[in-house]
Amino acid sequence: MNALEVRDVRVHFGGVYALKGVSLTVPSGMCVGLTGPNGSGKSTLVNAVTGVVDAEGAVSVRDRPLQLCRPGRAARLGVRRTYQTPRVHPKLTGIENVCTGHRLATGRSATAALFRRFGAGAAERVRQRDAAAALDRVGGSAAAGITGSVMTYGQRRLVELARVLVAEPRVLLLDEPSAGLNDAEVTALRSLIADLAAEGVGVLLIDHRISLLNEVCDRLVVLEEGLKLHEGEPADVWRHDRVRAAYIGELDDAGN
Ligand code: ADP
Ligand code: MG
Repeated sequence: MNALEVRDVRVHFGGVYALKGVSLTVPSGMCVGLTGPNGSGKSTLVNAVTGVVDAEGAVSVRDRPLQLCRPGRAARLGVRRTYQTPRVHPKLTGIENVCTGHRLATGRSATAALFRRFGAGAAERVRQRDAAAALDRVGGSAAAGITGSVMTYGQRRLVELARVLVAEPRVLLLDEPSAGLNDAEVTALRSLIADLAAEGVGVLLIDHRISLLNEVCDRLVVLEEGLKLHEGEPADVWRHDRVRAAYIGELDDAGN
């Protein structure tokens, strides 16, 4: 099954096209890297899928067509995303922030209905337990009891990541998750992404860290100015002349 299929997606802002017809597929259980120079349209693609910007084209999630331009529709099909600039509530603690993403927080699932019957206390305990486990899994336990306003940038990223994990996503769109993380945190992120893919989640990973892309991605898609410049296996993509040209000055740790 394909976790995500994007066909000929176009997005324009006041007549200027940020995406000029991009297609890509993320199979379930795989991690596809999306990279390309700043301004090439990577975040816009995530925004198009999640319906926060208007888009033309066709997107399907787990082989079901997704109505574009409708925020919330993708989430109902199991899509979760993180933001290039992490978004956590400044007045809530790490645990409280993570709890807001829990599948029992929406009140729509059958489990949520059961918990309503057995009492809010039980649901709250499950949320807290799952939130603590997710924070631990991403290596963000140090942020459990502190509010968003005093978290470091890296802690905000980890809390945001834990918040999407408790939603039990089937499709995960990560927008530069390694930015601002230290080496140990990047190593943890890499194994987390690999584990999620092994569990069947389809992951679209936007990142500039070439070593991370190469190690965790099955395929890479390179965008340039709103178009797909190249797609292939990581090792091959970086040999492509136009990719190298687009990346001049940006190739960080590819070792070439
Ligand atoms: P990337 O994530 O690859 O760095 P973006 O998707 O953020 O690139 O941006 C692609 C292009 O679209 C850029 O030229 C950017 O300025 C423009 N853009 C993105 N979002 C908006 C917006 N909300 N309004 C106007 N222009 C935008
Ligand atoms: Mg971006």
